[in-house]
Amino acid sequence: MKPVNFDYARPGDVAAAIKLIADDSLMVKIMAGSQSLGPMLNMRLVQPDLLVDITGIEELRRFEDRGEEIVLGACITHADIEDRRVPDVTRGALPAVAKGIAYRAVRNRGTIGGSLTHADPSADWHSIMAAVGAKVVLRGPGGERVIPVEDYMLGALEADLQPGEMLVAVRVPKLSGAARWGYYKTCRKTGEFAHAIGAFLADPERGVSRVVIGATETRPIVVAEAGNIIGDGRAERMDAAFDSKAVDEVIKASGMTDPIDRQTHITALRRALEQAQSA
Ligand SMILES: Cc1cc2nc3c(=O)[nH]c(=O)nc-3n(C[C@H](O)[C@H](O)[C@H](O)COP(=O)(O)OP(=O)(O)OC[C@H]3O[C@@H](n4cnc5c(N)ncnc54)[C@H](O)[C@@H]3O)c2cc1C
Repeated sequence: MKPVNFDYARPGDVAAAIKLIADDSLMVKIMAGSQSLGPMLNMRLVQPDLLVDITGIEELRRFEDRGEEIVLGACITHADIEDRRVPDVTRGALPAVAKGIAYRAVRNRGTIGGSLTHADPSADWHSIMAAVGAKVVLRGPGGERVIPVEDYMLGALEADLQPGEMLVAVRVPKLSGAARWGYYKTCRKTGEFAHAIGAFLADPERGVSRVVIGATETRPIVVAEAGNIIGDGRAERMDAAFDSKAVDEVIKASGMTDPIDRQTHITALRRALEQAQSA
């Protein structure tokens, strides 16, 4: 199949892009790396009147160090993070996860904003960004909103975007020198989307102990106070404090009924903890 005919615009700044996408007389789609949008256009799952290509907007390709956090523009690619063209403030977490996304051709073009907005439950950025406590910055005709990454995905393929809004940046907090993280995804082949994701951050200096169970059927499960599951991060072996029964309860409460599915997710988290302690 081929896409329907559409107009194409490549605005030079965010204000011009918002003006275009806020036109409710047209079916307008934002295009970033086009790694997910391209197939959707070809299959006519989306049939826009106008495509707004945001990859030429300089603001969206920049990063800014703000002391306590780094602000990453929405069009920063997976490869920019993998290659550390943007500074890493996560003790290697984001570059390591970037490297495991798809294969290089996809990473060269795919963007963090596109991935988070596409809201595929199996995608990697949702889980690791939620684990490190990142927030998304959304801008639209009514101004700016800043919300935690885990609240941005409303469900499978559904992001919390108001009419005329776009994602402009992701704010990533700087982890302390004592922070420990782990990320493990189960997939059959390298470069595939995950069947299960386990991620955690334990940052005792900042009092953070977070667990994320990703690649569910909907948005990731985030346990913001996960001390009872993984400890506070001070123990030498991160997996020593692991309470798989407590994790199972959390996953069950989220509605995952298949015991094999639950076990796959528990195992992913256990492996994330084991890898952290051997890192
Ligand atoms: C073969 C293949 C394998 C893949 N494997 C993985 C994997 O293992 N893990 C993984 O995480 N991902 C994987 N992906 C997805 C990839 O990471 C894409 O980057 C991601 O799906 C979309 O990012 P994009 O920049 O290409 O967005 P696009 O495809 O351009 O856009 C995706 C959607 O987001 C919207 N959008 C884009 N940017 C913005 C913005 N700033 N504000 C508002 N809306 C916006 C678009 O309108 C569209 O609806 C894979 C993709 C392919 C093709």
